[in-house]
Order: sequence, then C-alpha cells, then structure tokens
Amino acid sequence: MVRYSNRATSRSSRERTKSSPRHVAVLGLTFCLLLLSSAAEAGLYTTSDQIVTISLDNYKSVLVNSSSAIVVEFYASWCGHCIAFSPVYKRLARDIKEWKPAIDLAAIDCADDDNRRVCTNFSITGYPTLKFFHAYGRKDSTGRRFKGVFHDMQALRHEIIERMEKQDPWPPACPPLEPTSQAEIDIFLETNNVRHLALIFENVSSYVGREVILDLLQFENIAVRRVLSTDDDLVAKLGVTEFPSCYLYYRGGNYTRLKVNIEARTFYSYALQALPGVARSGKSALATIDNSSKSIEELWKPFNRSRVYMADLESTLHYSLRVELAAHPVFTGKALTSLRKYISVLAKYFPGRPILMNLLKSLSSWLDDQTGDEVSYQALSEILENSVQAPDAALPEGVRWVSCQGSQPHLRRYPCGMWTLFHMLTIQAKKFGGSDHKEVLNAMTGYISNFFGCRPCAEHFETMAKQSLAEATTFKDSILWLWSRHNRVNNRIAGALSEDPRFPKIQWPPPDLCADCHTVKENGEHKWNNNQVLLFLQNYYSPEHILTDYLEDESVVLAKQEEKRLRMLQLEAQKRIAREALEKANAPNPALEEGEEEEEEEEEDDEAAKPIGPDDDGRQIRRPSIVGMKPREVREDIVDLDSAVNRSYKAKSVQVATSSRVKRRTLQRNREERDSKLGMVLMEPNVASDEHGVPDGVGSGRRTRWMSMLSIGFSKTDVSLCVILYFMSSTCLIIMYIFFKTRLRLRRGKVSLP
Ligand code: FAD
Repeated sequence: MVRYSNRATSRSSRERTKSSPRHVAVLGLTFCLLLLSSAAEAGLYTTSDQIVTISLDNYKSVLVNSSSAIVVEFYASWCGHCIAFSPVYKRLARDIKEWKPAIDLAAIDCADDDNRRVCTNFSITGYPTLKFFHAYGRKDSTGRRFKGVFHDMQALRHEIIERMEKQDPWPPACPPLEPTSQAEIDIFLETNNVRHLALIFENVSSYVGREVILDLLQFENIAVRRVLSTDDDLVAKLGVTEFPSCYLYYRGGNYTRLKVNIEARTFYSYALQALPGVARSGKSALATIDNSSKSIEELWKPFNRSRVYMADLESTLHYSLRVELAAHPVFTGKALTSLRKYISVLAKYFPGRPILMNLLKSLSSWLDDQTGDEVSYQALSEILENSVQAPDAALPEGVRWVSCQGSQPHLRRYPCGMWTLFHMLTIQAKKFGGSDHKEVLNAMTGYISNFFGCRPCAEHFETMAKQSLAEATTFKDSILWLWSRHNRVNNRIAGALSEDPRFPKIQWPPPDLCADCHTVKENGEHKWNNNQVLLFLQNYYSPEHILTDYLEDESVVLAKQEEKRLRMLQLEAQKRIAREALEKANAPNPALEEGEEEEEEEEEDDEAAKPIGPDDDGRQIRRPSIVGMKPREVREDIVDLDSAVNRSYKAKSVQVATSSRVKRRTLQRNREERDSKLGMVLMEPNVASDEHGVPDGVGSGRRTRWMSMLSIGFSKTDVSLCVILYFMSSTCLIIMYIFFKTRLRLRRGKVSLP
C-alpha cells in the first residue's frame, strides 16, 4: 500500500516536472471549476426531487407557522448512510406527492458550514436524523425525532400517518383520518355537496384507507373515509365481506362496489381519480374543451385514447424539423452531431408512409455527405422541402394533433408528440436496431439538450440522463428507462399549470389500460410488473397498432409540395429580377455624367415598363418599375411582403438618390461655370454622402469655395494685380536706389574739391 502510494507520488512528481506553466494553469483552472461545480451540487437533493431544501437563510420561514406538517431529514452529504438513504427519501417524496398540502418533505445538509448552526440548534448529533414538525409550529419547536432510520418506504409512510393523527393543531388541508360511522356519513352528505363518497372498509391495523384519503386530498367532487371492519352496522348494511374493499356511497343510501384488479391502495387511488367529475382542485372548471380560439378545421377530433396516431407523429416531425430546428441558422459542433444522430434514427426507425420515409432518407444521406464543420438550416431546409426534387418524397406541412390534442390551445400537442415519437423509436430500435441499444436514447438526449425549446424541461431531462442512462444496458432497458423517466416527469408536474385537466398526469399505463402491468408485493405495496410493461409498450407503440385517421392523402401532400416549390421558384425569379434592376439603377451611368440626367430618368421609366419576356402562364413579365414606380399589370402571384416592402423602400431610395445626384451635378456645373468666370481652379471637396447620395449637412457649397480659397486657387485678376504691384514696387526700389546712389556720388565730389 505504502509502496503503491510512493509509486503514485513519484510518478505524479515526474509529471509535474514535465508539465509546462501552461499545463499548470489549465490544471489549476480545471480544479477551480471542479470545486465550484462540486460546491454547486454539494447536497444530496435537487429541485426535481420535490424535497424542500432547508438552509440557514430559510429554515425559519419553512418550519415556523407552516400550514402543513413537515418531515425534515438532517443529513451530512459525506455520510455513507445518508447517501444510501437518499434514494428511499426521494422515492417517498414521489410516492406521497399528492399529500403535499397536509405534509411536506424537507432536507438540510449539516455538512454545509453555513447550516451547522441550524443543525446544532436542533440538537442533531448523528446522521441521518428524521424529525416531524407539526403544522403551525412555534419558533422554539425542535420537532419530534423518528425512532431509527427507515429504509422501507412503507414503514416511513405509516410512521408519518401516525404522527399526523396525533398532531394538534390539525393542518387545514388535511381531511379527517379517523374511522367514520353511519351517523357521521349522514351528516356529511347533508352538509356537503360532493359527488362521490368512497368508503374503504378495512381492518383496524390497515393504513390503506388513510393513504387513499391523503392520495385524493387534492381532488374535487370526491371524499374518502375509512370504515373499520368492526363497524357492524355499516358492514352489515353494505354486505361487506372483504377487507380491504371500497364502496361508493350516495345520498339516499345507494351504494356500489368500486371495481379494481387488486384491493390495494394504488388501485383504489387510480380508480377514484378517474371517476366522472373528479378533477384536481381548481382544474375541474377548466376541464371543458375551448374551441373559441380555434378555426373550424381545428375543431376537436374524436379519437381513441388507447391508441397512437400517425397524424401526431407527422405533426411532431413538421414542428421539430420546420419550426424548432429553424431557430438555429447554423449547426456546428455538438449541435451538428446531435442533428445527424436525430435524423439518422428517424431515417432508420420511423415507421412512416413511403413519401415521408423517402424524404427522411434523402435528408439523412445528404447530411452524411456534408463533410464540413457546419451545416446551415437554409441548406437543410432545401432538402426538407425537396427542392432537389427527389421522387415521391415529402413531409406533410402543418400540424394535425389527434391523441395529443389539448382541451386548450396551449396544452399538450408538441411535447406530447415528442414523447410519443421517442417511445415509438425505442420500440422500433429493439426490433430492427443493430448493436447500439442506446442509439435512440442518445439521439433523444442530444436533440432535447440542443434543440428542445422548453429549456427547463431539457435541463431536467439531461440531469435524469446523466444520473441513470448508464443503467440501460440492453434494448429492453432502454425502452423501460424512457418509460420510467417519463413517469417521473408525470409525477413531478402533476397538478402544474401545464397539466391538461382532461388528461391528468398519472403513472402510466393506468390499470384500465394495462391491468397486468400492475401488481403488489407481499406487504401490499404497489409494484410494476416490468415484463408486462415492456410487452404493453411494444404493442402500444408498434407501427401495426398506429392509427392513420386524419392523415392527408399522399398525393395531396405531393401536389401541395410541388405547388409550394413552384411558388418559391416564382418568388425567387421575382427577387432576382428586382435585384438586377436595383443593381442597374445603382450602377454609375456615363450618360448621366455627360449631363443627360433628366432624359435618362425618363428613359429609365419607360424601360421599366417594357416587357422582358413571357412568364409561366404566357403573360408578359415586366421589369419591376424601380424608379418612378409605374403601376404594374395586376397579377395573381403571391406577394412576398418582405421583398415588396423592400422593393418599394429601395425604389424610393433610388429615386431620391438619382434626383439628388442630378441636382448635385447641376449645382456642380453652375459652380464650375461661375468659378471659371472668376478664374478659379475648382477643387471638388470629398463631401460625404448618405445612402441616398445626399451630401452631409447644409452649406456644402460655401465649404467648397473656402476650400478653393485656402488652396492655391487665385483668380486671374488677383494674379495680374500681384504682378503689377510687384513691378511697381520693384521699379520704385530701383528708382530709389539710383537716386540715393547719385546723391552720394555728388556729395563725395563736393568734399574732394580744394
Ligand atoms: P405527455 O406526458 O406528453 O405524454 C404523451 C402521451 O404519452 C400520453 O398521452 C400517454 O399516451 C403516453 N405516456 C404517458 N406517460 C407515459 C410513459 N411513462 N411511458 C410511455 N408513454 C407514456 N413539462 C414540464 O412542465 N416540466 C418538465 O420538466 C418537462 N420535461 C419534459 C421533458 C421532455 C423530454 C418532454 C418531451 C416534455 C417535457 N415536459 C415537461 C412536457 C410534459 O412532459 C408533457 O409532455 C406535456 O405537459 C403534455 O402532457 P400530456 O398530457 O400530453 O402527456
């Protein structure tokens, strides 16, 4: 051991001596990043675990005066037992999610320095410790410790129920948990307006009744009560012989037994939540179809809830390929790899109609041929719209949601289609795939991470994939992994605003869709029968089982595509012509330089109106009138608003530019004439002009003159005057010189005379 560590040390020191300063810097940076990221992920729970994270900052607001009871786990993130317990606690949080208004789960990491004082205040000396805090707790409440740590979720649930029964004050959201009687039932029905009253008959030691009461806590139009097997009156009145069993009891003493596959908590809860009129609180009013904002074509389509529809899958592809991917103008790096994988699994496993398969295959082989580092969406879209005219290849345009319809326009639809698509692809890959059992899940993870528009959804999904995708080691595992993670999402978002009240989030498939998928353990706990779930999924998502109602006929799809292609070509031609005309109008014209601007302008207008050839329908195509904008012949072609606005804007600009150019040149000519009259040499300043050719600022003419004055440009008169003055002054100087010289000589002569 010692030797091993010595070896390791010497090797690392060798490496250290070898490493350059740059390497050291990179290592240092990586270490810092690791520290930061580990600090960020220090706790054992994340927000998606539905466990409230307690810290020094929030513990008072969470624990003091809360309207619900709270169970808190005090743990240390380094403690092995806490790590082992965390999956149980997370499972418990998912299992009793519906109990939330009455009881909540929380956790605090005592290994975090900031939290240590809180843990000390609560007398925590060992980890993990669970404490129960009743509703409306006081500031000095330290909670009641659970005896021992329960690794069994059922035992934990039972312990929580017992603590809840003893609490005072009672959480307002919690219904009565004690057994009921005939007298109480009569009063209840008189004073309450619930549609269904469910009575669970059970032995005194059973927790099923209380669990179901809490499971239905958030649902309207139903109340659940427990009746003990010792209540002879009620047992005899309803003729109950089996415990537990559930009966629906109505006003006037009518009753009926609730039909379930297995007499157990989960089965009762599933069945009661599915009763007519029963809906999550606040959602029942919304549970009607809102057709007000839909067009006639989009009216509700009747469908079979237990079937997958090809219309949903095609709609998903339309939205994903034409809308979601279009938000990415260029694909590079990881995004490009993800795109390739996505298109590849679609081409391989999508059980589409021939025209769609032709298109997906041509898209996939085109992507394979792209050897560069990037692919533009524009290029991809040309293949998608089949501009290359591959025979009989098309992706139907638009969406036609059927089993993914939402009762309101913002509910279900595309995300529902995405789940359906990938479940179906995992099934197909098992049937036809090669050796890579994770091919579809990797493609899905890549797509969701890079392109799925709902970013928080993508982040949650990525986290789930990072945590557990490695567990999937066979095709069967991959199918079941996606199924179970989808159920986790269903659990987490049950009751959220995005839940369609007509399609409540449940653990899927419910017993009425697949009875054999559900079973119970010896202790009565619900258990999924994974083999049956696999069989069910393989059948439910199999291509043979997919319904083709509401699909547009292939010939119609192809005809529409051709029509669209021709329209695009026509539009392209129009744009090209407009562009050429613009370029022509913008190009410098020598004739204009020679002072023929006005005539040229008129000629241009005439030219614009001249036919340049027949169009597809034999009509004369006219050159677009750019300058002067003469009215065009009325045509039926589709107007591209962008280019039309652009054209008219550009035409106006060109007009302004041309007229200002004409004006500028006229001014320039006048100035030249005037300057030449004054004998000035014109030095044209380099005046900046805007995009219309209009010079910057006013008074540029004045600036021109000043510029010529400041340079060498003197007039002829100036020069003549200068020369005359020069001559005159030199003559004066010469005369003065001669005068003084003569006088000097005369004086010398006088002095030398005797
Ligand atoms: P969906 O959950 O979309 O299910 C579609 C259909 O699949 C159902 O009608 C049913 O027939 C079938 N189905 C249901 N459960 C399963 C299952 N376990 N296995 C196989 N088939 C099943 N929304 C959020 O608010 N928060 C999120 O974090 C979030 N994450 C998402 C992550 C991904 C990858 C996707 C695709 C969507 C996510 N969504 C999230 C959206 C959300 O899951 C639903 O898709 C959306 O609310 C529409 O719900 P729905 O009622 O149509 O049913």
